[in-house]
Amino acid sequence: MRFLADAMLHRLCKWLRLLGYSCEYASSEKKDDEIIRWASREKIVLLTRDEELAQRARDYCKTLLLHSNDFQEQAKEVFRAMHLKPRKTPSRTTCPECNSPLSKVTKAEAKGRVWPYVFKHRRDFWECRGCGRIYWKGSHWTGIKKTLGRMASTN
Ligand SMILES: [Zn+2]
Repeated sequence: MRFLADAMLHRLCKWLRLLGYSCEYASSEKKDDEIIRWASREKIVLLTRDEELAQRARDYCKTLLLHSNDFQEQAKEVFRAMHLKPRKTPSRTTCPECNSPLSKVTKAEAKGRVWPYVFKHRRDFWECRGCGRIYWKGSHWTGIKKTLGRMASTN
């Protein structure tokens, strides 16, 4: 399942990528018509907080109107509506920067591309196939997991 987030949902878009879901981002230059055409052509689920856009889009593509201001609450709305669960393995998530898939790389391949401290203390590294960024289960990953836990709780 893939998503298209409108310009108001930038943080949500990044989080969906971290959670393992492909999410395209429609910048604020995109007109409503372009966004609707994009979503219907690619058969992706349009995420928006704009009631007018949601109303117009409904005839053309699957549309989810979100209500919360908060990206964590928005993610919960998406998961509830779509009956999804966040995926917590980085090898299955997409790059939060460019939405490309990540692949596992060897420690040797990560050498010189991450901080020496990280290199020394981590075993598992992933590389973005799109932009080449290296990811690892570091302290930031612990923070992500905490937030994921909060998002995944159903209350
Ligand atoms: Zn990337």
